[in-house]
This record gives sequence, C-alpha cells and structure tokens, in this order.
Amino acid sequence: MAAMLPAIFLGHGNPMNALLNNRYTEGWRRFGQETAKPRAVLAVSAHWFVPGTAVTITTVPKTIHDFGGFPRELYQVQYPAPGDPELARQVQKMLAPLPVRLDESWGFDHGTWSVLRHVYPDADVPIVQLSIDETQPASFHFELGRKLAPLREEGILILGSGNLVHNLHAYAWGQQIAEPYDWAIRFENMARERLIAGDIQPLIEYEKLGRDAQLCIPTPDHYLPLLYVIAGRQQGEVISFPVEGVDGGSISMLAVQVG
Ligand code: ZN
Repeated sequence: MAAMLPAIFLGHGNPMNALLNNRYTEGWRRFGQETAKPRAVLAVSAHWFVPGTAVTITTVPKTIHDFGGFPRELYQVQYPAPGDPELARQVQKMLAPLPVRLDESWGFDHGTWSVLRHVYPDADVPIVQLSIDETQPASFHFELGRKLAPLREEGILILGSGNLVHNLHAYAWGQQIAEPYDWAIRFENMARERLIAGDIQPLIEYEKLGRDAQLCIPTPDHYLPLLYVIAGRQQGEVISFPVEGVDGGSISMLAVQVG
C-alpha cells in the first residue's frame, strides 16, 4: 500500500499570485517539492460554487480565466494538466447515493491553476475538480470530505483552494503589506488553535462564532474548501501551516496541511 499523502488547503488570494514569486508562491512550490508526487489531484476550489455536486470528466480540461480587470498576461496563462475521468468516476461511486454529475463544461478555474502552477510547474499531475454545492450547509461538505479521505491512501492529493479569511470589501487592492484587521487576526488565531487541538466542530459550525466570523466569512465559498481537507484527518495526524500571512488586510493566505 502506498504511503498516505497529506491533504492540503491553500489560501490562493489574489489571482495575480499565479504570475508572481512571493512568500506565498514559494511556500506552494516548496510543498510540491517536499511532498511525494501524487498520482492525481482532487481539487475543491472556491470558484466552482454551484448548485449540486459535480466532478470534471474531460481528459483535456480547459483553463478558465474566471475574473475581470486583470492584466492581459494573466488571461494568457494556460495550465495544461490532463484530467482523470477514472478518478472522477471513482469519486462519483464513493459519494453514492449522493448524485454526482459528470461535468464536461467546467475545467480548471483560477482557484485551482493559480496555485497548482506553482506546486506542479510542469502540469504533469492529472486533476479532477469537485464542485462545492452552494445549497448545502457546512456539515454536508465536511461529511463529503470524510467520505473522500480514503483517496489519500491511493496516491491522490486532496487540495482545497480558498481562503480562511476572505473579505474583499475590506481588501486593500495592491497593498500586500496593509496592516491586517484585528478581526482577521483573531479569527485566524482561533482557527489555528482549534485545528491543532483537533477541536473541529466549532469550525464546522462557524456561523455561531459571532462577529469575527461574519467579517471573515461574508460568503462561505472560500471557507468551505478547508472543511474537505480537515475532514480527512486521521487519529494522531499532525496539522501544520506551511504558508502564513494576511494579504491586503483581509485575506488570510494560511495554508493548512494534514499529515
Ligand atoms: Zn478566490
């Protein structure tokens, strides 16, 4: 049996990170270099937040430029990693009886390619994206993560791409060094403590965590990918934070690694 791969949540932040070299992208690169190369990646991105659960089934997924107002260079980025229809069908079976749609219309959105471009620069690891069902509560997503965790023993890297704290309304565009908001720091510290302690229930029921949580998670799309990752933690597995920092005051770039 292959050794169990870690699962990783990456804070992707500004789409421009796809083109930049900074402390965040260096951390992503390091993770790729220091972790055994997976057979494939199952990516859960904040940017495929739709009704229903779906997996990409195409063999040549397209690179989707799902943002506006960025430099032309960013629209020219292609991430030509192959798909993995077999893995997509396996995910469908593992989640049964939940209906999982085999999708031919999506591809890789920037939540996936802006980080994987750094983790696997050669685009040589097949990728399947799993959508986040926007109609379902956090507990549903955590449960799906639990069901998918055995993939880690089969050489599949489970990747969540979002941001633990994601408030674009308060974000200081272009000012990476803007002072973080106190609520962002408080919430991030609380989350780290809970993660290390293995006290996950409050993170699933984050809506009960008050004003800091409301400011940090104004919409759940960037938060929920984290639940898919931490749901697969096995007894005694270490949690680490290979990338840290708060971008523009209100975007946590924290990476959370399980195993
Ligand atoms: Zn995003």
